Amino acid sequence: MTSYVFTFGGSAQSDDPRSRDKTVVGGKGANLAEMAGIGLPVPPGFTITTEECVRYLAEGSDFSDSLRAEVAAALAHIESAVGKAFGDHANPLLVSVRSGARVSMPGMMDTVLNLGLNDRTVEGLAQSAGDARFAWDSYRRFIHMYSDVVLGLDHHLFEDALEIAKEDAGYYADVEMQAEDWQALVSEYKALVEQELGQAFPQDPHEQLWGAIRAVFDSWDSDRAKVYRRLNDIPGDWGTAVNVQAMVFGNMGDTSATGVAFTRDPATGERAYYGEWLINAQGEDVVAGIRTPQYLTRQSRERAGAKPLSMEEAMPEAFAELAAVFDLLEKHYREMQDIEFTVERGKLWMLQTRTGKRTAKAALKMAVDMVGEGLIDERTAILRVDPMALDQLLHPTLDPEAPRDLLVKGLPASPGAASGAVVLDADTAEKRAAMGEAVILVRVETSPEDIHGMHAAKGILTARGGMTSHAAVVARGMGRPCVSGAAGISIDIASRSLRIGARDFREGDVITLDGSTGDVMAGEVRTIEPELVGDFGTLMEWADRHRRMKVRTNAETPADCRVARQFGAEGIGLCRTEHMFFDDKRIAAVRQMILAEDEKGRRAALAKLLPEQRADFHAIFDVMAGLPVTIRLLDPPLHEFLPHADAEFEELSEAIGIGVDTLKRRAGELYEFNPMLGHRGCRLGITFPEIYEMQARALFEAACDVAAQGGEAPVPEVMIPLVATRKELELLKAVVDKAAGEVFAEKGRTLHYQVGTMIELPRAALMADKIAEVGEFFSFGTNDLTQTTLGLSRDDSAKFLGVYVEKGIFPRDPFVSLDIEGVGQLVELAAERGRKARPGIKLGICGEHGGDPASIAFCEKVALDYVSASPFRVPIARLAAAQAALAGK
Ligand code: PEP
Ligand code: MG
Repeated sequence: MTSYVFTFGGSAQSDDPRSRDKTVVGGKGANLAEMAGIGLPVPPGFTITTEECVRYLAEGSDFSDSLRAEVAAALAHIESAVGKAFGDHANPLLVSVRSGARVSMPGMMDTVLNLGLNDRTVEGLAQSAGDARFAWDSYRRFIHMYSDVVLGLDHHLFEDALEIAKEDAGYYADVEMQAEDWQALVSEYKALVEQELGQAFPQDPHEQLWGAIRAVFDSWDSDRAKVYRRLNDIPGDWGTAVNVQAMVFGNMGDTSATGVAFTRDPATGERAYYGEWLINAQGEDVVAGIRTPQYLTRQSRERAGAKPLSMEEAMPEAFAELAAVFDLLEKHYREMQDIEFTVERGKLWMLQTRTGKRTAKAALKMAVDMVGEGLIDERTAILRVDPMALDQLLHPTLDPEAPRDLLVKGLPASPGAASGAVVLDADTAEKRAAMGEAVILVRVETSPEDIHGMHAAKGILTARGGMTSHAAVVARGMGRPCVSGAAGISIDIASRSLRIGARDFREGDVITLDGSTGDVMAGEVRTIEPELVGDFGTLMEWADRHRRMKVRTNAETPADCRVARQFGAEGIGLCRTEHMFFDDKRIAAVRQMILAEDEKGRRAALAKLLPEQRADFHAIFDVMAGLPVTIRLLDPPLHEFLPHADAEFEELSEAIGIGVDTLKRRAGELYEFNPMLGHRGCRLGITFPEIYEMQARALFEAACDVAAQGGEAPVPEVMIPLVATRKELELLKAVVDKAAGEVFAEKGRTLHYQVGTMIELPRAALMADKIAEVGEFFSFGTNDLTQTTLGLSRDDSAKFLGVYVEKGIFPRDPFVSLDIEGVGQLVELAAERGRKARPGIKLGICGEHGGDPASIAFCEKVALDYVSASPFRVPIARLAAAQAALAGK
């Protein structure tokens, strides 16, 4: 019989391997079982499987009798392990109920603590704990949480009632509330529930339990969970498990405490215990930022210049036990752990462990350090760093020389710097970002409902919350700079304004954040490009040792080429020559060329462009110092170059001495309804061969000149775009070869070069064998190949593609991550046919997908020779290529 419930902890630790399988019991459940299994102090409990959640949601039915029986048995297990009984008036067992999917999902249901309390059991708890204040405090917490999470009432109702109660009693802090104060608040809370729902707060602990289980299952399909899944590529059919666990209390007086910790510093990767704790508190007090947590170690407290004692100082024994647990967990998991613990009257309990989220910098440092410590091998280190996370390291930081107008300082919650317009809610952030505006989301604190806004924002600033607050954890995961807990910020939503430090701002005003220092500044502050050293270099070296594919770059300016080389590019995979034509100084000649009535007119304009192009190529060859450089001849739709406004026509007329009317007429003749499928790519070369002739001449002249100056001889790869037929390539290769022959004769020097083509039309992929008879290399132009295979405009689809991804029609935007099952087939087929016709033909990819890890994994599978990515993506591609190679082994 399939079991839907697994017990853990105490004497009834399940030995079924499924009880430790994340896919069955979720991440939290698996790790609780794992910790209990290695002898750590875990309060006993049980997990209801994800399968049961999937069944429940699919059938929409009630819980089965067999599930009810299994839960009853598991509950009995907890009861006997802790010597208390669920619902017992004298010695009641209280439980926590938490969701737990395969991967941690902060967008899901929160925890319900203290479940099992009612008007009778609260008295029993007061008796058995010998602490009435604690018991009534626990009860009011329970009603608040249960009403919010399970009954769907607004948590503000309860918070406001508490604030009023404190004010009436003349108290400042929660700790001043006495037993009778909490008891009175409980009555008020219950009245609130009755008033809002028209029925009493449930008193039956079993009804409470099943209500919470149902709420966890339902939360899998909540809007915020769906948003989180979409942003994190989590399949909708995984379901969540439910963990029910005996309560231990961190709020039983001053020998009790609760905390969260990382076994290493998640921001820097340093090997130092890192965390926050609070005496006499329950878990949510730390995370919610209601009270300011204290430091875990003496060193971190002293570094911060803080007064309240660290756990190391205040509870040395429990701390020593905790430190031993840290070491044990790291050795067991061979990975940095993020844990939650509680100390109940001096006794340490472990409530959770999981792989800790970290910044890219920390991920690198930990991976490299752990190899040094012998915990993991090089291969594991390579596989452990998310290539996309490197983005965090590759982005600008604030220029230390730039003037700063510091407003306030908060916590350095997630590194990186960002400037943008202040926005005060997530929807506004999303709206303004969609219009192309850089925005900084400023909130009192964030919650899972804000995720879409956090994603849209360049940076996040919160007034409340610690380093483990929602904003901090989520921003770190997303790689967004974040400053949290910046006291001194007050927000007035009604007037859409805020005060930061001593100054007033309105929504839309620009501020700058430095997530690495916690600084918040007025206006925009200059940034500098990152430099890659130390751990980054080490990991990249390891990656290079393990990857098979080469990594090139898409670049056409010497500056970009230089950056790309610093990032480790091994050549240029795509130099888009048309980008060189947009230069202010040249655009007139380019327009003259395009608008010329005949070949003679075109040649006159091309003669002006030749020396410019030659100089461009010369500079690039210099920087690339003998590495292969793929130069693509002119490609884009001509309309991109045409003048539009009257003033532009007038300016051009003046520059080239042709009347405005003539120019306008000619521009009209060139107008196309669908330029992307129009007179572009090699079609330009076919109709105006003199353009390609000039470009070929310029590049061969430049190559010869560089070689003549004693530089490394360039290896030009001349690439013809948008080829559909063998004949096109044959005709244009002849143009290129002719230019090469002429230049080599003139210069008295012959250089090795190749002529190849892009595969960016379905027909080209299908005819790859024929095309390879002429072409000496292929480069997959997957931008156009995606556009033409899907019949989906590159330029217009952004408006609706989001909906397609949301509805699961595409798993991801196909212009970002290759549509492997569709477009991928054409790539595979073209590679196969190309190789058959020309064994060993060099194959690469230069569409945007060349910098996307999932697409790179596919390229490895098809055994391409290289991927080409934009300069800042080169390190990502290097790491992804290594991971792909290792995955295939
Ligand atoms: C492509 O189509 O994939 C490509 C690299 O060329 P472009 O983006 O310049 O059209
Ligand atoms: Mg293209």
